[in-house]
Amino acid sequence: MKKMKFIDPHVHMVSRTTDDYQAMAEAGIVAVIEPSFWIGQPRTEAGTFKDYFSSLVGWERFRASQFGIRHYCTIGLNSKEANNEALAERVMELLPLYLCKEGVVGLGEVGYDDQTPAEDKYFRLQLELAKKLNIVVQIHTPHRDKKSGTSRSMDVCLEHSLSPENVIVDHNNEETVREVLDKGFWAAFTIYPSTKMGNARMVEIVKQYGPERIMINSAADWGISDPLAVPKTAWLMEQKGISEEAIEKVCYKNALEAFGKSGQMKESDWADGQSIDQRSTFSGNSILRGGMTPKVDPKSSNVIIE
Ligand SMILES: [Zn+2]
Repeated sequence: MKKMKFIDPHVHMVSRTTDDYQAMAEAGIVAVIEPSFWIGQPRTEAGTFKDYFSSLVGWERFRASQFGIRHYCTIGLNSKEANNEALAERVMELLPLYLCKEGVVGLGEVGYDDQTPAEDKYFRLQLELAKKLNIVVQIHTPHRDKKSGTSRSMDVCLEHSLSPENVIVDHNNEETVREVLDKGFWAAFTIYPSTKMGNARMVEIVKQYGPERIMINSAADWGISDPLAVPKTAWLMEQKGISEEAIEKVCYKNALEAFGKSGQMKESDWADGQSIDQRSTFSGNSILRGGMTPKVDPKSSNVIIE
């Protein structure tokens, strides 16, 4: 396989290590999209959302750049924490401020977790906001009642007059993919390391449905997950005889097309190789520790940090 470029359009890098960034860059990942999400510990103050959103457009973006990876994000109130209504109201006030910031490629990840009335309320309010701002929506579909939750998510989008081509429906499986594609939405798949949707199953889906409007991601976070899921699945697809053109669509081009609508994410951001300058700092902080020589590489996309 010639050296391919990959985009991981759903990965929670705040939970990952510098080793992950290094391995991702070496594997050919040139860009990542980090959706805002629940961080494990339930938040109790709107200020912690504010700082989290700020880190997604600030520190984490800087940290990725130090490894030659372009970092983008989606901003939203996650479904789980929509159930804390007093908090949710305050977070809703923050969203418009962050959705217009540099590097924000959409509203997400939003949708249903337990499909409660509060989740429904804040999902709908956020869809209206996305419509007003003319930005794409990244939808988290529930892990319980997956099929009905996915159908419902799409129905609600249509009810609010969102165009399916502006909505990425995530965490699909064999049971949901047909309906999502038939309705004209983007179908994203999360590749889990050992359970649920594994990469062998993903290969079969691409064989069956082809590469149009399908994209894959790792959704790597603080749980057991694999930030190399996208390149590993690409390599398996190649072994199983899927064309390079199809692999490129599923692992790179479709994510670029869908999230590139924001105008914030362009191939030219990394096409000539990305500059790495580890002498730079963010709020006075560097990723380097005592005695390390900063790597300075003006044109290198997949950089090995020595
Ligand atoms: Zn996620």
